[in-house]
Amino acid sequence: MYDTESLALLAPALQRLAAGHADLPPVSSAPQPAADGDAMAAVLMQVAGRLQDNYPYAHPLYAGQMLKPPHPVARLAYALATFVNPNNHALDGGRASSAMEREAVAGIAAMFGWTQHLGHLTGGGTLANLEALWVADQLHPGRKIVASAQAHYTHARLTQVLKIPFQAIAHDERARMGVAALQAALEAGDVGTVVVTLGTTAAGAVDPLPAILRLRERHGFRIHVDAAYGGYHRLAGNLGADARAAFDAIGEADSIVVDPHKHGLQPYGCGCVLFKDPSVGRFYRHDSPYTYFSSKELHLGEISLECSRAGAAAVALWATMQLFPLQRGGAFAQGLEAGREAALALHARLAADPRFLTALAPELDIVVWAPRGASASEVSARSQAIFDAAAREGLHLAVASFPKALFPQWNIAWDRDTVACLRACLMKPEHRDWLDPLYARLGQATDAVVSN
Ligand SMILES: *Cc1c(COP(=O)(O)O)cnc(C)c1O
Repeated sequence: MYDTESLALLAPALQRLAAGHADLPPVSSAPQPAADGDAMAAVLMQVAGRLQDNYPYAHPLYAGQMLKPPHPVARLAYALATFVNPNNHALDGGRASSAMEREAVAGIAAMFGWTQHLGHLTGGGTLANLEALWVADQLHPGRKIVASAQAHYTHARLTQVLKIPFQAIAHDERARMGVAALQAALEAGDVGTVVVTLGTTAAGAVDPLPAILRLRERHGFRIHVDAAYGGYHRLAGNLGADARAAFDAIGEADSIVVDPHKHGLQPYGCGCVLFKDPSVGRFYRHDSPYTYFSSKELHLGEISLECSRAGAAAVALWATMQLFPLQRGGAFAQGLEAGREAALALHARLAADPRFLTALAPELDIVVWAPRGASASEVSARSQAIFDAAAREGLHLAVASFPKALFPQWNIAWDRDTVACLRACLMKPEHRDWLDPLYARLGQATDAVVSN
């Protein structure tokens, strides 16, 4: 499951890196504090033993949470960079990696059709959204920020942190922001910013950005697109018409968040925030008495709320984008398309299988379904039991709770307002070829639960 061959590529690259400072007097002693090889090997073995206590995230039979293995080139570039250990706060702490960050971020902006932007990497989607909401509030102080009830919970929480009034907008039967509900909120007044989620975390739903843009013409508000999960699907050639239209319109937003550590083949610690108007950089202005000495050029810490950040994350992303440019039809885009094909195929099988209830045709690569049952309580209990039974078969799914409004066609007794469903995130290109073994295990787990 873990590729070890690529590790051989690290040593020659490290030699090339070291040659960059060949003019310095050599340092011969071992790194301090000193440790002998046997002791380090023993600790590493202990670490490997401890790390066995995880679900097998990299395996195609893992389809639970939003976890996708980093590409080997990202892992190696990250490891190489840690020998330098650059800090992308200031150019003084990471010259090359800051330049690579700017190039990589410009590449992501170009994917969204932006030739001009302000942006940077962050520790993740939460921090990236925090910056976008903070800038939104600087521009519309005290006005409401609204997001779909299916948006990531972070928006409700971040607006609390930032002390911005927040309102959840009811969603439609496809888990997308309800246009009529949004319109009502706009007419009630005082909305400064609408958060549009392209790829919700629970169901992968894509909010109707084109309709929201039409509302903007009438009501004038800021649009922040949270595409932490879905952003890269702009490159996928096999989206449905509504999702396609939303991703095609993404460049009309004022700010965008995308997580390279979700679909972008990066290790954790890599989010990205982009602003269409570079002049919002004025809100970040500050004087650091410590850090900005070597150059009058822009230091990334002057346009970011975080101070120290791993330059290695930028190096890994840059390396990955050299190997897999963000192009439609390219190898990276084909990987996204494979996951989506897998999701469509899984949904079709589930819909034709009398053991299951389906709804919500997948808009990206996330599938939501439930086992049949007499009531919402029974369906929920069975979902949980199948989740556990599948894990024993080596198949790792997720359980997610959804409101009853998403399932008007389910003929069950609604003895509660939400229902726990099964959920699969088919993020890995390999999922397409693993559908048969995946479905066989799901079937066994279901039969074991429902016959009991
Ligand atoms: C994952 C996710 C977030 C949070 O990002 P983190 O990288 O986990 O901090 C926010 N919004 C959406 C839509 C997400 O999928």
